[in-house]
Amino acid sequence: MGLEDWLGNDFISTRVKDLLAWGRKNSLWPMPFGTACCAIELMATMSSRYDMARFGAEVVRFSPRQSDLLIVGGRVTLKMMPVLQRIWQQMPEPKWSISMGACASCGGVFDTYTMIQGVDQFIPIDVYIPGCPPRPENLIDAVRLIQEKVGKTEIQKLIDERTGIDHLARLEAMDRRKQEANA
Ligand code: SF4
Repeated sequence: MGLEDWLGNDFISTRVKDLLAWGRKNSLWPMPFGTACCAIELMATMSSRYDMARFGAEVVRFSPRQSDLLIVGGRVTLKMMPVLQRIWQQMPEPKWSISMGACASCGGVFDTYTMIQGVDQFIPIDVYIPGCPPRPENLIDAVRLIQEKVGKTEIQKLIDERTGIDHLARLEAMDRRKQEANA
């Protein structure tokens, strides 16, 4: 006999961290960084035809401080890379990223001295989308993969790894100091 048998059909039981992960993965706020033709496909994906709202990721922000999913679509030059890095740094943790299309992922056909041969040399990338250009369905697929990853990720562990700070140990040390001060 399960809890549901006692509570009826109007209740579900879960853990707080699963509930938070469910909410987080179904309310991604993308930050678009579109520089070329891939950005047209990115815009198409956000149109009513493909309806990104089905996946809870339709609230495209143009402010990194309000976003948790960076989508890089298009060519990135040496001159642009510091701007992209700054945008990534301004996004609050936890955050994720998608490299959309051949140019963002490996420079595409533009093997020139001005072109970054893969943005993952400078910022961490969670999901790569192949193609030139990828179709909107590919981007939707990438968002679904990100959702899977968000659902499985231990958020505090991810933040600790990225920031290099063990927050739990820090909180315990603060508690110890407080107890020592009060003793
Ligand atoms: S991958 Fe193809 S479609 Fe995308 S930006 Fe490069 S050239 Fe354009």
